[in-house]
Amino acid sequence: MSAPNFDARFDRQVRFAALGAAGQARLEQASVLVVGCGALGGSLALQLVRSGVGHVRLVDRDVVELTNLPRQVLFEERHIGRPKALAAQETLARIGGPSRVEALAEHVDADNLAELARGAQLLLDGTDNLATRYLINDFCVERGLPWIYGGVVGAAGLVLPIVPQLGPCLRCVFPEPPPPGALPTCDTAGVILPAVAAIAALQCAAALRLVATPRERWSEIEPHLIELDVWRLESRVLSAARDPECPCCGAREFPYLDASGEGLAISLCGRNTVQVRPGGGARAAADLPALAARLEASGFELVLADGVLRFSAEGKRFTVFRDARALIEGLEDPARARALYDRFLGS
Ligand SMILES: [Zn+2]
Repeated sequence: MSAPNFDARFDRQVRFAALGAAGQARLEQASVLVVGCGALGGSLALQLVRSGVGHVRLVDRDVVELTNLPRQVLFEERHIGRPKALAAQETLARIGGPSRVEALAEHVDADNLAELARGAQLLLDGTDNLATRYLINDFCVERGLPWIYGGVVGAAGLVLPIVPQLGPCLRCVFPEPPPPGALPTCDTAGVILPAVAAIAALQCAAALRLVATPRERWSEIEPHLIELDVWRLESRVLSAARDPECPCCGAREFPYLDASGEGLAISLCGRNTVQVRPGGGARAAADLPALAARLEASGFELVLADGVLRFSAEGKRFTVFRDARALIEGLEDPARARALYDRFLGS
């Protein structure tokens, strides 16, 4: 088989004058980190790869579930139970093209974001939680990297492209995250694919524009906050401004970068699942084959595949990742989960 001709593949994009051959070449040189590859992140990754972005790194801590399939476009029934990042990578590889897709089944926190973002010139928000978004904002403002905020609930969502120093950061617009339980979530209010697709499309367009535009011309990109409701067909484009009093991009305080080690066991909202991370703040690594052998010797039924170990114990389903993180399904209580983690994985 002859090598594919990428110039021919991207003919219609190159004909789009605002992108052109120079913009397309910049896309193919670009390196982007997509944080989370569920609904928004999966749709973002699909668009980035189809558009020919050269290096796309995906990071996601979760596994595919049945209820993801109506809106998480990279997954099929056969992926259920597999790490999302790896299932996404498999789907994206079938598209072909010049993109190199890297997949990491990891939890993102202040300890590892710098490593995960190594070499990336832009970060894209495909997360489902505010803590990670405020962490990304601190990180990107501190480093002077652009990132694109996106969020969806129900049929509506928000997009805010953030270019540090040239426009507002997340905390200029939303100074503090609301307390837990203050906002509807996809688990309480539901969510539909058209809303996800629309918000991801706006995020991806902003990303392509930033990547295709030389840095010295980023000041031409308007700092807009976009609100969109695909059910009621309502949209608002608000001109967002920098807040000179902003604790992040003004005073350059980055508290979320210092939040290491918090939330070692967190209940995943509405999921009857708790995520447990190893303590001590250190980056741990689990010897999964050794753990599998130990559990098997104790009579547990298990599956070790795709870099994750799955087994059931005490009526709970455990999924253990190489970074020693575990998802424990079948309970809500973090302390109980921590105890089970220590019992089955502990030292
Ligand atoms: Zn700010």
